[in-house]
Amino acid sequence: MTGRTSETSRTSAGGGGGGGGDVTVIRGGTLVTAEGAQHADLVIRGSRIVGIVEGGDGHPADARIVDAQDRFVMPGGVDPHTHLEHRVGPTLRTSDNFYTGTAAAAAGGTTTIVDFACNRDDLSLAEAVETRREAASHGAIIDYRFHSAITGVGLTQGTDDMAAAHALGAHSFKVYMAYPGRMMSDDETILRVMAKAAELDCVVLAHAENGHVIAYRTQQLLDGHQTAEHYHFHAHSEEAEAEAINRAITLADTVGCRLHIVHVSSASGAECIASARNAGSHVTGETCPQYLFRAYEDYRDAGFDAARFICSPPIRERRHQAALWSALRNDHLSVVATDHAPFFFRERDADLGSKERGRGYFPKVPNGVPGIEERLRLVLEGGVEQGLLTLPRVVDITSTQPAKIMGLYPRKGSLSVGADADIVIWRRGVAKPIRFQRQHGDIDYSLYEGFETHWQPETVFSRGEVIVADNEVVARPGRGEYLAAPSKKRVSDHLATSNA
Ligand code: MN
Ligand code: MN
Repeated sequence: MTGRTSETSRTSAGGGGGGGGDVTVIRGGTLVTAEGAQHADLVIRGSRIVGIVEGGDGHPADARIVDAQDRFVMPGGVDPHTHLEHRVGPTLRTSDNFYTGTAAAAAGGTTTIVDFACNRDDLSLAEAVETRREAASHGAIIDYRFHSAITGVGLTQGTDDMAAAHALGAHSFKVYMAYPGRMMSDDETILRVMAKAAELDCVVLAHAENGHVIAYRTQQLLDGHQTAEHYHFHAHSEEAEAEAINRAITLADTVGCRLHIVHVSSASGAECIASARNAGSHVTGETCPQYLFRAYEDYRDAGFDAARFICSPPIRERRHQAALWSALRNDHLSVVATDHAPFFFRERDADLGSKERGRGYFPKVPNGVPGIEERLRLVLEGGVEQGLLTLPRVVDITSTQPAKIMGLYPRKGSLSVGADADIVIWRRGVAKPIRFQRQHGDIDYSLYEGFETHWQPETVFSRGEVIVADNEVVARPGRGEYLAAPSKKRVSDHLATSNA
């Protein structure tokens, strides 16, 4: 990083040295990016990073100094897969609204999310983006964007609707290969979506599970009176995931579309992506903390408590964890996102619902688990402390890669001069347990209760403003900004380099 450092230092002397009361220097820390680590000061003016300075001298006399001695300074996390205020039906909604969800994200070191805007038979993709943007504008404390999600109603207004959503700031389109009758698109629709996305230089995200296979197995289980919560796992086979991933890749390759497979849960799913990447396909994959840290063995004999673990694809046998970590290390998987979809465990609010809705009958258990606040602590612990990933690789998969894939880089996901000053000062100290009561989301459990981590986010900046200090959220609801424009550099340029 030496060459880059001297260059940015000069930029700082010219751009950041002019003084004014608007300069903050994060001094004496270890800066960690996807490329590496260095000892340097980070200079912020207003909402942007204006310098990376080695040696620690020459800062404006009136600059605000933030001491980062013995601390790690990293770009804010980018979580490209969240479901805040996500209504599933008239009496079921994810428990976090845009305020509580983004407060939890921020407290955990995440400064950007990409959530979803889903079409309905009475709501076009473009209208969905506007509706969701309006909802987020009142609560979000960090910056956000939306994937345009094509649900089971298909492209009711044709591919022009995709272009309209794109004009409103959507740079990614999601298709579902599961949930027939509700969310699932057939292959013909998926091809049309992918062809249009390629034309718009956008990426397509796929929930890759074969919905018909799952429906068939679910019926078999119900016919055999195997309805307990943990049978959810048995309904969602590993083969149903692998088949859909391979099919999604085939469809994307056919039309030359970039593809991102969300929530990869299995060894075979990761292998499908690895071999396609080796063969030159433009496909990336994400996994989630629930697949890296929890296992079927944790809930098989748990009775109704198993409902806490229910999400799709399911949390699989422990043997998959090592394969997923290894895929992250080898760049077969590129992202750890959360798929944060919190539902109360115990019924509290009739309008929001809870896991209780499916007590004793797995098809009725709301699908989704929380994790937006725990993600970075967990990946730092599991990756760095266990020696499975380097610190720069953790930054890469939790911030830089998601920003690149979603067209947010280098504004997000980097510490480069000109980037938004979305910065987290991390302390590595004595191990502390995760306690959901100390967290900030509107949810009545953590899937990681009692897990100990050595890493704590101490101070969190969003666009130069301190939004979290000492585990306390100090930001005004609604201060988050909608990220409409794509980063200037074309997304495909970044993917070409990251795929090399
Ligand atoms: Mn999904
Ligand atoms: Mn999801």
